[in-house]
Amino acid sequence: MAGQQIFDVTVIGAGPAGLIAAAACARSGLDTLLIGPPANSEDRRTSALFGGSIELLKKLDVWPELRDRSEPIGGIRIVDGSTSLFRAPEVLFEAREAGFEAFGYNIPNMALTKALEAVCGPSMTRVPTGVTSVKIGADEVELTVAGDGVFHARLAVAADGRASATRAAAGIEVSSWTYPQSAIITMFHHQRRHRDISTELHRPAGPLTVVPGPGLTSHLVWIDSREEVERLMGLDDAAFGRELGQALQGLLGSLSNFSPRQSFPLSGQTARSLAKNRVVVAGEAAHVIPPIGAQGLNLSCRDAATLAEIASDAKRSGADIGGEETLSRYESARRADIGTRVFAVDLLNRSLLSSYIPGVSLARGLGLFALASSPALRSRVMREGILPAASNPLMMSAEEISPPRLDEQTR
Ligand SMILES: Cc1cc2nc3c(=O)[nH]c(=O)nc-3n(C[C@H](O)[C@H](O)[C@H](O)COP(=O)(O)OP(=O)(O)OC[C@H]3O[C@@H](n4cnc5c(N)ncnc54)[C@H](O)[C@@H]3O)c2cc1C
Repeated sequence: MAGQQIFDVTVIGAGPAGLIAAAACARSGLDTLLIGPPANSEDRRTSALFGGSIELLKKLDVWPELRDRSEPIGGIRIVDGSTSLFRAPEVLFEAREAGFEAFGYNIPNMALTKALEAVCGPSMTRVPTGVTSVKIGADEVELTVAGDGVFHARLAVAADGRASATRAAAGIEVSSWTYPQSAIITMFHHQRRHRDISTELHRPAGPLTVVPGPGLTSHLVWIDSREEVERLMGLDDAAFGRELGQALQGLLGSLSNFSPRQSFPLSGQTARSLAKNRVVVAGEAAHVIPPIGAQGLNLSCRDAATLAEIASDAKRSGADIGGEETLSRYESARRADIGTRVFAVDLLNRSLLSSYIPGVSLARGLGLFALASSPALRSRVMREGILPAASNPLMMSAEEISPPRLDEQTR
Protein backbone atom coordinates (compact mmCIF):
# COMPACT_ATOMS: atom_id res chain seq x y z
CA MET A 1 0.00 0.00 0.00
CA ALA A 2 1.56 3.36 -1.07
CA GLY A 3 2.65 5.71 1.72
CA GLN A 4 1.93 3.23 4.51
CA GLN A 5 4.34 3.60 7.43
CA ILE A 6 6.11 0.40 8.47
CA PHE A 7 7.70 0.60 11.92
CA ASP A 8 10.95 -1.26 12.61
CA VAL A 9 9.53 -2.72 15.81
CA THR A 10 6.16 -2.77 17.54
CA VAL A 11 5.94 -3.75 21.20
CA ILE A 12 2.55 -5.12 22.30
CA GLY A 13 1.90 -4.66 26.03
CA ALA A 14 2.89 -1.66 28.17
CA GLY A 15 3.53 -3.48 31.46
CA PRO A 16 7.02 -3.14 32.95
CA ALA A 17 8.58 -5.56 30.42
CA GLY A 18 6.96 -3.95 27.37
CA LEU A 19 7.85 -0.42 28.48
CA ILE A 20 11.49 -1.37 29.04
CA ALA A 21 11.67 -3.21 25.69
CA ALA A 22 10.11 -0.29 23.79
CA ALA A 23 12.34 2.29 25.50
CA ALA A 24 15.46 0.18 24.78
CA CYS A 25 14.48 -0.21 21.10
CA ALA A 26 13.82 3.52 20.64
CA ARG A 27 17.07 4.33 22.43
CA SER A 28 18.93 2.04 20.01
CA GLY A 29 17.70 4.01 17.00
CA LEU A 30 14.76 1.78 16.02
CA ASP A 31 11.56 3.35 14.76
CA THR A 32 9.33 2.03 17.55
CA LEU A 33 5.58 1.68 18.14
CA LEU A 34 4.28 0.77 21.62
CA ILE A 35 0.68 -0.50 21.87
CA GLY A 36 -1.17 -1.25 25.10
CA PRO A 37 -3.16 0.36 27.91
CA PRO A 38 -1.14 2.04 30.69
CA ALA A 39 0.18 -0.46 33.29
CA ASN A 40 -1.95 -1.43 36.29
CA SER A 41 -2.07 1.60 38.61
CA GLU A 42 -3.04 -0.65 41.56
CA ASP A 43 0.19 -2.71 41.41
CA ARG A 44 1.66 -2.19 44.90
CA ARG A 45 4.58 -4.56 44.30
CA THR A 46 8.18 -3.47 44.25
CA SER A 47 10.87 -5.00 42.08
CA ALA A 48 14.36 -5.75 43.31
CA LEU A 49 16.45 -4.98 40.23
CA PHE A 50 20.12 -5.93 40.17
CA GLY A 51 23.22 -4.18 38.79
CA GLY A 52 22.79 -4.76 35.04
CA SER A 53 19.09 -3.84 35.16
CA ILE A 54 19.89 -0.59 36.97
CA GLU A 55 22.51 0.18 34.33
CA LEU A 56 19.81 -0.28 31.69
CA LEU A 57 17.44 2.09 33.55
CA LYS A 58 20.24 4.67 33.58
CA LYS A 59 20.74 4.33 29.83
CA LEU A 60 16.98 4.77 29.35
CA ASP A 61 17.13 8.05 31.33
CA VAL A 62 14.66 6.96 34.01
CA TRP A 63 17.12 6.46 36.86
CA PRO A 64 17.26 10.13 38.06
CA GLU A 65 13.46 9.97 38.56
CA LEU A 66 13.64 6.59 40.36
CA ARG A 67 16.78 6.89 42.47
CA ASP A 68 15.13 8.74 45.37
CA ARG A 69 12.12 6.39 45.38
CA SER A 70 14.32 3.28 45.59
CA GLU A 71 16.29 1.64 48.36
CA PRO A 72 19.71 0.03 47.83
CA ILE A 73 20.06 -3.66 48.59
CA GLY A 74 23.47 -3.95 50.22
CA GLY A 75 23.08 -7.47 51.58
CA ILE A 76 21.01 -10.63 51.12
CA ARG A 77 20.58 -12.86 54.15
CA ILE A 78 19.27 -16.42 53.76
CA VAL A 79 17.92 -18.07 56.88
CA ASP A 80 16.98 -21.75 56.89
CA GLY A 81 13.55 -21.76 58.49
CA SER A 82 12.83 -25.37 57.50
CA THR A 83 11.87 -28.00 60.03
CA SER A 84 14.51 -30.32 58.58
CA LEU A 85 16.95 -32.37 60.65
CA PHE A 86 19.73 -30.79 58.58
CA ARG A 87 19.14 -27.10 59.30
CA ALA A 88 21.69 -25.02 57.46
CA PRO A 89 23.61 -22.05 58.91
CA GLU A 90 22.53 -18.50 58.05
CA VAL A 91 24.27 -17.11 54.92
CA LEU A 92 24.87 -13.38 54.47
CA PHE A 93 25.88 -12.13 51.03
CA GLU A 94 27.31 -8.63 51.33
CA ALA A 95 27.75 -6.65 48.12
CA ARG A 96 30.90 -5.08 49.54
CA GLU A 97 32.47 -8.53 49.75
CA ALA A 98 32.22 -8.73 45.93
CA GLY A 99 33.50 -5.14 45.50
CA PHE A 100 30.12 -3.44 44.95
CA GLU A 101 28.28 -0.86 46.99
CA ALA A 102 24.95 -2.66 46.50
CA PHE A 103 23.47 -5.60 44.57
CA GLY A 104 20.81 -3.34 43.16
CA TYR A 105 17.77 -1.40 44.28
CA ASN A 106 14.22 -2.11 45.38
CA ILE A 107 11.94 0.00 43.15
CA PRO A 108 8.14 0.50 43.44
CA ASN A 109 6.49 -0.89 40.28
CA MET A 110 4.15 2.09 39.94
CA ALA A 111 7.04 4.57 40.03
CA LEU A 112 8.92 2.43 37.50
CA THR A 113 6.10 2.26 34.95
CA LYS A 114 5.28 5.97 35.38
CA ALA A 115 8.89 7.00 34.73
CA LEU A 116 9.10 4.67 31.71
CA GLU A 117 5.84 6.02 30.23
CA ALA A 118 7.30 9.53 30.53
CA VAL A 119 10.34 8.61 28.40
CA CYS A 120 8.36 6.45 25.94
CA GLY A 121 5.91 9.24 25.04
CA PRO A 122 8.35 11.55 23.24
CA SER A 123 10.67 8.88 21.76
CA MET A 124 8.19 6.66 19.88
CA THR A 125 4.62 6.31 18.63
CA ARG A 126 2.47 5.37 21.63
CA VAL A 127 -1.02 3.85 21.15
CA PRO A 128 -2.68 3.40 24.58
CA THR A 129 -5.27 0.74 23.64
CA GLY A 130 -5.30 -3.04 23.19
CA VAL A 131 -4.42 -5.01 20.05
CA THR A 132 -7.47 -6.88 18.73
CA SER A 133 -5.88 -8.77 15.84
CA VAL A 134 -2.37 -9.79 14.73
CA LYS A 135 -1.79 -10.87 11.11
CA ILE A 136 1.63 -12.12 10.16
CA GLY A 137 2.62 -11.60 6.54
CA ALA A 138 5.74 -12.48 4.55
CA ASP A 139 7.41 -9.07 5.10
CA GLU A 140 5.58 -7.45 8.01
CA VAL A 141 3.15 -7.86 10.89
CA GLU A 142 -0.23 -6.10 10.72
CA LEU A 143 -1.87 -5.07 13.99
CA THR A 144 -5.39 -3.85 14.46
CA VAL A 145 -6.14 -1.97 17.69
CA ALA A 146 -9.37 -1.28 19.59
CA GLY A 147 -10.99 1.65 17.76
CA ASP A 148 -9.91 0.13 14.43
CA GLY A 149 -6.49 1.72 13.82
CA VAL A 150 -4.18 -0.52 11.74
CA PHE A 151 -0.38 -0.51 12.11
CA HIS A 152 2.48 -2.35 10.42
CA ALA A 153 5.95 -3.34 11.63
CA ARG A 154 8.82 -5.58 10.54
CA LEU A 155 9.11 -7.17 13.98
CA ALA A 156 6.52 -7.60 16.75
CA VAL A 157 7.55 -8.00 20.40
CA ALA A 158 4.97 -9.96 22.39
CA ALA A 159 5.12 -8.35 25.87
CA ASP A 160 1.41 -8.81 26.46
CA GLY A 161 1.78 -10.94 29.56
CA ARG A 162 1.41 -14.60 30.42
CA ALA A 163 -1.74 -15.15 28.29
CA SER A 164 -0.16 -13.38 25.30
CA ALA A 165 -2.41 -13.36 22.22
CA THR A 166 0.51 -12.12 20.08
CA ARG A 167 2.54 -15.21 21.05
CA ALA A 168 -0.42 -17.42 20.10
CA ALA A 169 -0.81 -15.62 16.73
CA ALA A 170 2.83 -16.48 15.97
CA GLY A 171 2.13 -20.15 16.72
CA ILE A 172 4.40 -20.25 19.79
CA GLU A 173 3.31 -22.83 22.34
CA VAL A 174 4.00 -22.80 26.10
CA SER A 175 4.72 -25.26 28.89
CA SER A 176 2.75 -24.27 32.01
CA TRP A 177 2.57 -25.60 35.54
CA THR A 178 1.19 -24.49 38.88
CA TYR A 179 2.46 -24.53 42.48
CA PRO A 180 0.28 -25.20 45.53
CA GLN A 181 1.26 -21.74 46.84
CA SER A 182 0.39 -18.04 46.67
CA ALA A 183 2.36 -14.91 47.61
CA ILE A 184 1.17 -12.02 49.80
CA ILE A 185 2.72 -8.61 49.34
CA THR A 186 2.47 -5.52 51.54
CA MET A 187 4.60 -2.60 52.71
CA PHE A 188 4.99 -1.86 56.43
CA HIS A 189 6.84 0.23 59.00
CA HIS A 190 9.09 -1.31 61.66
CA GLN A 191 10.99 -0.41 64.77
CA ARG A 192 14.47 -1.80 63.98
CA ARG A 193 16.69 -0.79 61.02
CA HIS A 194 16.95 -3.18 58.09
CA ARG A 195 20.49 -1.97 57.33
CA ASP A 196 19.73 -2.35 53.59
CA ILE A 197 19.70 -6.12 54.00
CA SER A 198 17.04 -8.21 52.27
CA THR A 199 16.18 -11.26 54.40
CA GLU A 200 14.86 -14.51 52.91
CA LEU A 201 13.47 -16.92 55.46
CA HIS A 202 13.30 -20.34 53.77
CA ARG A 203 10.26 -21.95 55.41
CA PRO A 204 8.76 -25.35 54.54
CA ALA A 205 5.80 -23.84 52.63
CA GLY A 206 7.97 -21.36 50.71
CA PRO A 207 10.27 -18.36 51.30
CA LEU A 208 9.20 -15.31 53.27
CA THR A 209 11.22 -12.30 52.11
CA VAL A 210 11.49 -8.77 53.52
CA VAL A 211 13.11 -6.34 51.11
CA PRO A 212 14.37 -2.95 52.34
CA GLY A 213 12.32 0.18 51.63
CA PRO A 214 13.13 3.83 52.48
CA GLY A 215 13.79 4.59 56.17
CA LEU A 216 12.11 2.24 58.62
CA THR A 217 9.96 0.50 55.98
CA SER A 218 10.18 -2.87 54.23
CA HIS A 219 8.30 -4.73 51.52
CA LEU A 220 7.06 -8.24 52.17
CA VAL A 221 6.76 -11.18 49.78
CA TRP A 222 5.36 -14.05 51.87
CA ILE A 223 4.93 -17.33 50.00
CA ASP A 224 2.80 -19.97 51.70
CA SER A 225 0.20 -22.62 50.89
CA ARG A 226 -2.90 -21.30 49.11
CA GLU A 227 -5.09 -22.09 52.15
CA GLU A 228 -2.73 -20.31 54.54
CA VAL A 229 -2.53 -17.26 52.27
CA GLU A 230 -6.32 -17.14 52.10
CA ARG A 231 -6.44 -17.22 55.91
CA LEU A 232 -3.73 -14.54 56.25
CA MET A 233 -5.50 -12.30 53.73
CA GLY A 234 -8.64 -12.49 55.89
CA LEU A 235 -6.91 -11.19 59.07
CA ASP A 236 -7.09 -7.58 60.20
CA ASP A 237 -3.84 -5.61 60.22
CA ALA A 238 -3.17 -6.10 63.93
CA ALA A 239 -3.54 -9.89 63.74
CA PHE A 240 -1.57 -10.05 60.48
CA GLY A 241 1.20 -7.95 62.07
CA ARG A 242 1.38 -10.33 65.04
CA GLU A 243 1.72 -13.38 62.77
CA LEU A 244 4.34 -11.69 60.58
CA GLY A 245 6.26 -10.55 63.67
CA GLN A 246 6.33 -14.14 64.96
CA ALA A 247 7.46 -15.48 61.58
CA LEU A 248 10.29 -12.90 61.52
CA GLN A 249 11.29 -13.86 65.07
CA GLY A 250 11.65 -10.20 66.09
CA LEU A 251 14.10 -9.36 63.27
CA LEU A 252 12.58 -5.92 62.61
CA GLY A 253 11.03 -5.27 66.04
CA SER A 254 7.38 -4.19 66.24
CA LEU A 255 5.52 -3.82 62.93
CA SER A 256 2.82 -1.27 61.96
CA ASN A 257 1.14 0.77 59.15
CA PHE A 258 0.55 -2.07 56.68
CA SER A 259 -0.42 -1.05 53.14
CA PRO A 260 -3.38 -2.99 51.68
CA ARG A 261 -2.27 -6.58 51.08
CA GLN A 262 -2.40 -8.16 47.63
CA SER A 263 -2.07 -11.87 46.81
CA PHE A 264 -0.78 -13.69 43.72
CA PRO A 265 -1.26 -17.42 43.03
CA LEU A 266 2.09 -18.94 41.95
CA SER A 267 2.59 -20.61 38.62
CA GLY A 268 5.31 -21.23 36.09
CA GLN A 269 5.39 -21.02 32.33
CA THR A 270 7.95 -20.92 29.52
CA ALA A 271 7.48 -20.29 25.84
CA ARG A 272 8.70 -23.31 23.83
CA SER A 273 10.21 -20.95 21.28
CA LEU A 274 11.32 -17.36 21.92
CA ALA A 275 11.07 -16.16 18.32
CA LYS A 276 8.96 -17.28 15.36
CA ASN A 277 7.13 -15.74 12.39
CA ARG A 278 8.33 -12.12 12.92
CA VAL A 279 7.44 -12.26 16.63
CA VAL A 280 9.80 -12.40 19.62
CA VAL A 281 8.48 -12.98 23.14
CA ALA A 282 9.65 -10.96 26.18
CA GLY A 283 8.71 -10.59 29.85
CA GLU A 284 5.98 -12.85 31.18
CA ALA A 285 4.95 -13.75 27.62
CA ALA A 286 8.29 -15.64 27.60
CA HIS A 287 8.75 -16.74 31.23
CA VAL A 288 6.66 -16.80 34.40
CA ILE A 289 8.45 -17.81 37.60
CA PRO A 290 7.59 -17.62 41.31
CA PRO A 291 8.81 -14.43 43.06
CA ILE A 292 11.82 -16.11 44.66
CA GLY A 293 15.24 -14.48 44.38
CA ALA A 294 13.78 -11.53 42.37
CA GLN A 295 14.44 -12.99 38.94
CA GLY A 296 11.35 -12.20 36.78
CA LEU A 297 11.77 -8.57 35.79
CA ASN A 298 15.57 -8.85 35.81
CA LEU A 299 15.20 -11.51 33.10
CA SER A 300 12.81 -9.18 31.23
CA CYS A 301 15.42 -6.40 31.33
CA ARG A 302 17.89 -8.80 29.68
CA ASP A 303 15.23 -9.74 27.08
CA ALA A 304 14.77 -6.04 26.31
CA ALA A 305 18.44 -5.06 26.07
CA THR A 306 19.30 -8.16 23.97
CA LEU A 307 16.41 -7.56 21.59
CA ALA A 308 17.30 -3.87 21.12
CA GLU A 309 20.91 -4.79 20.39
CA ILE A 310 20.09 -7.52 17.84
CA ALA A 311 17.34 -5.56 16.05
CA SER A 312 19.47 -2.40 15.81
CA ASP A 313 22.38 -4.48 14.41
CA ALA A 314 20.00 -5.78 11.74
CA LYS A 315 18.86 -2.24 10.91
CA ARG A 316 22.43 -0.93 10.66
CA SER A 317 23.46 -3.74 8.32
CA GLY A 318 20.38 -3.33 6.11
CA ALA A 319 19.05 -6.79 7.02
CA ASP A 320 15.38 -7.61 7.60
CA ILE A 321 14.68 -6.58 11.24
CA GLY A 322 12.01 -9.28 11.61
CA GLY A 323 13.84 -11.84 9.45
CA GLU A 324 15.09 -15.30 10.31
CA GLU A 325 18.58 -14.15 11.31
CA THR A 326 17.27 -11.67 13.90
CA LEU A 327 14.88 -14.28 15.27
CA SER A 328 17.48 -17.00 15.59
CA ARG A 329 20.03 -14.63 17.20
CA TYR A 330 17.43 -13.65 19.83
CA GLU A 331 16.47 -17.28 20.44
CA SER A 332 20.05 -18.38 20.99
CA ALA A 333 21.01 -15.29 23.05
CA ARG A 334 18.11 -15.70 25.50
CA ARG A 335 17.45 -19.44 25.72
CA ALA A 336 20.17 -20.45 28.23
CA ASP A 337 19.65 -17.51 30.60
CA ILE A 338 15.88 -18.02 30.78
CA GLY A 339 16.17 -21.82 31.05
CA THR A 340 18.73 -21.63 33.87
CA ARG A 341 16.74 -19.15 35.98
CA VAL A 342 13.43 -20.95 35.54
CA PHE A 343 15.11 -24.23 36.48
CA ALA A 344 16.94 -22.77 39.53
CA VAL A 345 13.87 -21.02 40.98
CA ASP A 346 11.72 -24.11 40.43
CA LEU A 347 14.35 -26.34 42.05
CA LEU A 348 14.74 -24.09 45.10
CA ASN A 349 10.97 -23.85 45.58
CA ARG A 350 10.48 -27.60 45.21
CA SER A 351 13.41 -28.35 47.54
CA LEU A 352 11.65 -26.31 50.25
CA LEU A 353 8.32 -28.03 49.59
CA SER A 354 10.12 -31.41 49.85
CA SER A 355 12.10 -30.53 52.96
CA TYR A 356 10.59 -33.49 54.77
CA ILE A 357 12.57 -35.76 52.37
CA PRO A 358 15.97 -36.18 54.09
CA GLY A 359 18.09 -36.35 50.87
CA VAL A 360 16.61 -33.14 49.50
CA SER A 361 17.00 -31.15 52.70
CA LEU A 362 20.53 -32.49 53.22
CA ALA A 363 21.55 -31.36 49.71
CA ARG A 364 20.06 -27.88 50.27
CA GLY A 365 21.64 -27.66 53.73
CA LEU A 366 25.07 -28.64 52.36
CA GLY A 367 24.76 -26.00 49.63
CA LEU A 368 24.01 -23.29 52.21
CA PHE A 369 26.77 -24.61 54.48
CA ALA A 370 29.29 -24.35 51.60
CA LEU A 371 28.14 -20.78 50.91
CA ALA A 372 28.32 -19.82 54.59
CA SER A 373 31.87 -21.09 54.94
CA SER A 374 33.45 -20.04 51.62
CA PRO A 375 33.94 -16.32 50.82
CA ALA A 376 35.22 -17.26 47.31
CA LEU A 377 32.09 -19.27 46.52
CA ARG A 378 29.87 -16.48 47.87
CA SER A 379 31.70 -13.98 45.71
CA ARG A 380 31.17 -16.11 42.57
CA VAL A 381 27.47 -16.50 43.32
CA MET A 382 27.12 -12.74 43.93
CA ARG A 383 28.87 -11.84 40.69
CA GLU A 384 26.56 -14.23 38.82
CA GLY A 385 23.59 -12.40 40.37
CA ILE A 386 24.88 -8.96 39.37
CA LEU A 387 26.48 -9.90 36.02
CA PRO A 388 25.05 -13.20 34.73
CA ALA A 389 27.63 -14.98 32.57
CA ALA A 390 24.96 -16.40 30.23
CA SER A 391 23.71 -12.99 29.15
CA ASN A 392 25.35 -9.63 29.19
CA PRO A 393 23.99 -7.26 26.53
CA LEU A 394 25.85 -4.01 25.94
CA MET A 395 23.15 -1.76 27.41
CA MET A 396 23.71 -3.56 30.74
CA SER A 397 27.45 -3.89 30.25
CA ALA A 398 29.91 -4.90 32.94
CA GLU A 399 32.26 -1.99 32.26
CA GLU A 400 29.63 0.57 33.12
CA ILE A 401 27.89 -1.54 35.71
CA SER A 402 25.85 0.21 38.36
CA PRO A 403 25.95 0.50 41.29
CA PRO A 404 29.48 1.92 41.35
CA ARG A 405 32.38 -0.20 42.53
CA LEU A 406 33.78 0.79 45.89
CA ASP A 407 37.18 1.82 44.47
CA GLU A 408 35.39 4.25 42.09
CA GLN A 409 33.46 5.77 44.95
CA THR A 410 36.53 6.68 46.93
CA ARG A 411 38.20 8.54 44.04
C1 LIG B 1 4.64 -10.95 44.15
C2 LIG B 1 5.63 -10.73 43.04
C3 LIG B 1 6.83 -10.07 43.31
C4 LIG B 1 7.78 -9.89 42.30
N1 LIG B 1 8.97 -9.28 42.61
C5 LIG B 1 9.92 -9.18 41.65
C6 LIG B 1 11.21 -8.62 41.96
O1 LIG B 1 11.47 -8.20 43.10
N2 LIG B 1 12.14 -8.53 40.97
C7 LIG B 1 11.89 -9.00 39.70
O2 LIG B 1 12.79 -8.93 38.84
N3 LIG B 1 10.67 -9.51 39.37
C8 LIG B 1 9.70 -9.61 40.31
N4 LIG B 1 8.47 -10.13 39.99
C9 LIG B 1 8.18 -10.45 38.60
C10 LIG B 1 7.67 -9.21 37.86
O3 LIG B 1 6.74 -8.51 38.63
C11 LIG B 1 7.05 -9.61 36.55
O4 LIG B 1 8.04 -10.26 35.78
C12 LIG B 1 6.57 -8.41 35.77
O5 LIG B 1 5.64 -7.67 36.48
C13 LIG B 1 5.92 -8.88 34.52
O6 LIG B 1 5.79 -7.81 33.68
P1 LIG B 1 5.23 -8.01 32.20
O7 LIG B 1 5.27 -6.64 31.62
O8 LIG B 1 5.91 -9.11 31.50
O9 LIG B 1 3.71 -8.53 32.38
P2 LIG B 1 2.40 -7.75 32.82
O10 LIG B 1 2.67 -6.84 33.96
O11 LIG B 1 1.34 -8.79 32.96
O12 LIG B 1 2.08 -6.82 31.57
C14 LIG B 1 1.46 -7.27 30.40
C15 LIG B 1 0.79 -6.08 29.75
O13 LIG B 1 0.23 -6.48 28.50
C16 LIG B 1 -0.97 -5.81 28.31
N5 LIG B 1 -1.78 -6.52 27.32
C17 LIG B 1 -2.39 -7.73 27.45
N6 LIG B 1 -3.06 -8.03 26.31
C18 LIG B 1 -2.87 -6.96 25.45
C19 LIG B 1 -3.30 -6.68 24.13
N7 LIG B 1 -4.10 -7.52 23.45
N8 LIG B 1 -2.91 -5.53 23.57
C20 LIG B 1 -2.09 -4.67 24.22
N9 LIG B 1 -1.65 -4.89 25.48
C21 LIG B 1 -2.04 -6.02 26.08
C22 LIG B 1 -1.60 -5.75 29.69
O14 LIG B 1 -2.55 -4.68 29.77
C23 LIG B 1 -0.37 -5.52 30.59
O15 LIG B 1 -0.15 -4.13 30.81
C24 LIG B 1 7.51 -10.34 40.98
C25 LIG B 1 6.30 -10.98 40.69
C26 LIG B 1 5.37 -11.19 41.71
C27 LIG B 1 4.07 -11.92 41.39
